[in-house]
Amino acid sequence: MRAILCDRPGTLSLIERPDPRPAGGEALLRIRRVGICGTDYHILGGNQPYLNYPRVMGHELGAEVVEAPAGSGLPPGMTVVVVPYLSCGTCRACRRGLTNCCRRISVLGVHQDGGMAEYLAVPVSNVIPAPNLSLDQAAMVEFLAIGAHGVRRAEITPEDSVLVVGAGPIGMAALIFARARGASVTVMDLRADRLEFARSTLGAAATVTASADAATELSSLTEGEFFDVVIDATGHLPSIKRGLSFVGHGGRYTLLSIVQDDIAFPDPEFHKRETTLLASRNALPEDFAEVMRQIEAGAVPTASLASHRAPMSDAPEIMPIWSTPQAGVIKAILEV
Ligand SMILES: [Zn+2]
Ligand SMILES: [Zn+2]
Repeated sequence: MRAILCDRPGTLSLIERPDPRPAGGEALLRIRRVGICGTDYHILGGNQPYLNYPRVMGHELGAEVVEAPAGSGLPPGMTVVVVPYLSCGTCRACRRGLTNCCRRISVLGVHQDGGMAEYLAVPVSNVIPAPNLSLDQAAMVEFLAIGAHGVRRAEITPEDSVLVVGAGPIGMAALIFARARGASVTVMDLRADRLEFARSTLGAAATVTASADAATELSSLTEGEFFDVVIDATGHLPSIKRGLSFVGHGGRYTLLSIVQDDIAFPDPEFHKRETTLLASRNALPEDFAEVMRQIEAGAVPTASLASHRAPMSDAPEIMPIWSTPQAGVIKAILEV
C-alpha cells in the first residue's frame, strides 16, 4: 500500500509498505479521508518532543471497513469513525472509564503509525459505525470531540458566559459545543479571518482581537464581570497565563491546549476568584457520540469547516503550504 512517511522533521515522502494484517480483535480499514491538525504540523516541524521518527501521521480518520471479526457489527463497506487513542484498559484511569488519560495511552499517528496510508488495522473497540456521516464528516469527528470534551469538562450551561481564546479548529469546536449547550460565547484570536468565520458561520456572540487592550474590550462586553468559563485553545504560554485575568469570580478555566513549559499564575489572582482550573485531554466515547449526534442534527457546519483538500499523494508538497497563516486553512483534508 501507499503511505506518507515523516522520516525526520521537515521531510515527508510517499512510500510503499506492506498492507497491515489485522490481529485478533482488530478490524482492517480502508482509509478514505485524513484530517490534518496542529499536531501533524508539529510532528512535521519537529516540535513534538516525545515522538520517534520515522512516523506515519494521521489520527483524524474517515474510513471504510474492509474486514472485521464476526459479531463486531462492522460490515464491509460501512463508513466508520476511528477513535485514535489506544488505551491499555487496565490502569486505574482506564478502569474508571477515563480512557482519554490512560497512563499508557498510545495515539495513532503520534506515538505509533497512523492513518496517512491506504489501510490501517485498528482494535474493533476503537471503531465507531457512522452510517449516517459522509467520509469527510467521519474524519472531522475527532477534533470536534476534543472541543466537546473541554466543554463537558467545564460543565457549561445556558446561563454561562464563555470566552474561547484561540480560534483554530479546536477553539472553533469548543465554540460549537458551548453554543450547542445554549451558552453565549465570545471568541478571541489574532486573526481577523478566523474571527469573521467564528461570528458569521459559527454564531459567536462577540469577537475580540487579541491585542494589548483586549482586557478593556472584554471588560466592557461583560460589565466588568468577565467570564464564567474561559477555554484556552491557543497553545501559547503567554496567552494561557493572561487568560486567568479573563476568568470571572467563581469561574472555571479550562486548558484545552498544551504547552511544553511550566504554567505560573499569581496566586492572589487565582485564589480571589476561587478559580476552578481544568486540563482537558483527548476525548471520551461519549464526546464522540455527542459530536456524531450534533453532526447528524445539522448543528455542525462541516462543509464550511473543511476549507482545503488534496489527494494524499500531494501531502509532501501541500502540507508545508497549509501550515502557513496565509493559506487561510480551517480544516484541511487529504483524500486517500
Ligand atoms: Zn488532531
Ligand atoms: Zn490505561
